[in-house]
Amino acid sequence: MRTYRLILSKLYLSAWARALALIVAAPLLWISAAGAAYVWNSREHDREAVRAFADDLNPPTPAQRYLIVAPHPDDEVLGCGGLMHYASRVGAGVRVLYMTNGDAFRFAAERETRRLRVDPMDYIRLGVMRRREAETALSTLGLPPKSFRMLGFPDGGLEALFHTNWSEARRYRSPTTALDAVPVAYEGATGAPYCGAALLRLLEDEIRSYAPTDILCPHPSDDHRDHSATGAFVEMALASLSIRGGLPPNGCRLRHYIVHRGSWPQPQGPHLADRMAPPSELIGLHTGWRGLSISKDATETKAAAIRAFRSQMAIMSRFLLSFARRNEVFGTPYPYPPASVSTGAVVQQPVRDNLVRRFRPQADIKSVRVEQLQGGTLVAVQTERPAGRFTELLLNIRWLDRSGGAAEGDSLAATITGDRVEADRALDVRQVGDQMHITIPSQSLRAAGFVVVEAETRMAGVMVDRTGPVAVWFGG
Ligand SMILES: [Zn+2]
Repeated sequence: MRTYRLILSKLYLSAWARALALIVAAPLLWISAAGAAYVWNSREHDREAVRAFADDLNPPTPAQRYLIVAPHPDDEVLGCGGLMHYASRVGAGVRVLYMTNGDAFRFAAERETRRLRVDPMDYIRLGVMRRREAETALSTLGLPPKSFRMLGFPDGGLEALFHTNWSEARRYRSPTTALDAVPVAYEGATGAPYCGAALLRLLEDEIRSYAPTDILCPHPSDDHRDHSATGAFVEMALASLSIRGGLPPNGCRLRHYIVHRGSWPQPQGPHLADRMAPPSELIGLHTGWRGLSISKDATETKAAAIRAFRSQMAIMSRFLLSFARRNEVFGTPYPYPPASVSTGAVVQQPVRDNLVRRFRPQADIKSVRVEQLQGGTLVAVQTERPAGRFTELLLNIRWLDRSGGAAEGDSLAATITGDRVEADRALDVRQVGDQMHITIPSQSLRAAGFVVVEAETRMAGVMVDRTGPVAVWFGG
């Protein structure tokens, strides 16, 4: 008792100390309460979204030819495993194109080698192993051998290839495998240099030769940068082929799947009898979402295919198995392909969709608009509140030229903070209300009418929001 009193007397040392403790503790308590309320609300939102979401997508028919483009081995099964299984059963065509072998996953490399120091050869061996896992997974879904191709491009480097390392002269070197071209061991596009132009060409060749009726690739709002960049490469390949000729004669449908988005899908773990809905903050924006109903048997087959990715299951089985549900969700970018060419297009973005964005509305991106003007092309980035002088806006744009080509110089990289503009070409920048107007005086950009825009905001060097690379058709 005496000790207790002693401690108390020390704790109650002075009114000043108490006041100070209160000042420190109150905001922390408030932030934790707001955080808990936010998580609870968003879970409730997710449950509501599942109830309201309809599985009205028709199952595959024998006439369909699906080209599924996956950043890493396992993404194709997580996003489209049920669809692939149905397609194989009805005799529809399925071809899987993997951008990378998934060779930059450090935890997996450490676990496989049972060493904490892994070298480039260990990463390459992991890439070879993930290829074998993919073979097993696809055969579990009923697909014949050789129904896939792994291009062997750098895991973790696809965004850099799209924005920075475009030409062969500016090859990308993988920090994990130390490679700057596809190695023989990957049995992929052997010898192809790690650069954006080479990857775009390979994709175009695949689309031209396979002539798919449906292409499935990741959604631009997928949090993983390899995923969103994969979507950008696919949309650029489609746009280039539609300008130059080379799309399948009857055209082809583009659909998006999504794998990484916050803590989606909830609840995590194997819930084979449950359904899912798209991430609720992405519903009602520019993507139309539809669900494909999956039977109990097909869900179990999909779960077995997921388990074939042994190296991944050892690290994140709960996350992977949350995709084995009684439906799959697919997004249709709207409008695609452009039905009528207009002078401008707007792509809406979710707002207040995480705690940081709620507290930083001046960096919460609301929409991106691309418009053709007399003096050039306008890109307007709208934020929930006017961007203050502490909001840093990073803009990356890549476009096609008049003939549908994409050269090194058909791009723009800019960082805008208040009045300060750092850019690799001359720009006109002004703040108009809650929008940042960036005008690019480029004739080639206006001619093709197709751009991929990616905006990212930071405050004090920390990312607050990012659009992902969104493809915009805005007029010719
Ligand atoms: Zn992935």
